[in-house]
Amino acid sequence: MTDYNLAYLLDGKVYINLTNSCTNDCVFCIRSIKEDVVGANLFLNTENVKAEDVIAQLEAMRDKLSSEIIFCGYGEPMLKLEVIKQVAKYIKEKYPNTVLRINTNGHANLVYKRNVLPELKGLIDKFSVSLNGENEEVYNELSQPHIEGAYEGVKEFIALAVKEGFDTTATIVTGYKNYKVDMPKCIEITKELGANFRERPWIENGY
Ligand code: SF4
Repeated sequence: MTDYNLAYLLDGKVYINLTNSCTNDCVFCIRSIKEDVVGANLFLNTENVKAEDVIAQLEAMRDKLSSEIIFCGYGEPMLKLEVIKQVAKYIKEKYPNTVLRINTNGHANLVYKRNVLPELKGLIDKFSVSLNGENEEVYNELSQPHIEGAYEGVKEFIALAVKEGFDTTATIVTGYKNYKVDMPKCIEITKELGANFRERPWIENGY
C-alpha cells in the first residue's frame, strides 16, 4: 500500500493522480505553486506508479466513488498510458456505469508517435483537452511546451478524439494574472474541431 495520493476527492468526484511529469510547463500550473489540491498532497515519490496501487486506493474509497472518475492530478496522465488502460479496464468491468474522463494536455500522439486514441475506446468516455490559446504564440507563452509542434498537435488530438467518437471538450484557463486569451477565437477554433468548449477560471486551490 502506498502512502501518497493516487486517488483523491475534489468537489465530490474522484480524481486519479498518476504522475508529476508533464510535457508542458504552464505558467499557471499549480504544481509550481502549491503542494496540495484541497488538502490532498499530490506530489508522488515515484514515477513508477502501478495500476494495482491505484486500484487499491480506489477500493479503499469505494463508498465515495463518484459516477464520473477523472484521470488528472499533478502532471500529464497520458504519460502513463498503460496504467490508464489497466485501471480503466478494471473500473469498467467492476463499476460499468462509471464515466471515465481524462484531463490531458493533448500531447499523447506526439509523445508516442502514433494515434493512441483507438486504444482507449470502450475504456475512456470523455476527454478534456487544454487548448490554452488561440494560436501557437499564445500557447507557447502560457504552456511552455517541451515538445515540438505542440499547439498543432493539440488541435489534431482534439479533432481525432471527436472523430473517434469520444465526448471531447477543449478548455482554456482564464483569470491568471494579466495573461489574456482570446476566448471568442478559442470558441471558434473549438467549433471547427467539432468539440465542446469550456472556460476554466483559474483558482488558487486547484482544478
Ligand atoms: S498541462 Fe497541466 S500538468 Fe502540465 S504544466 Fe500545464 S497545467 Fe501543469
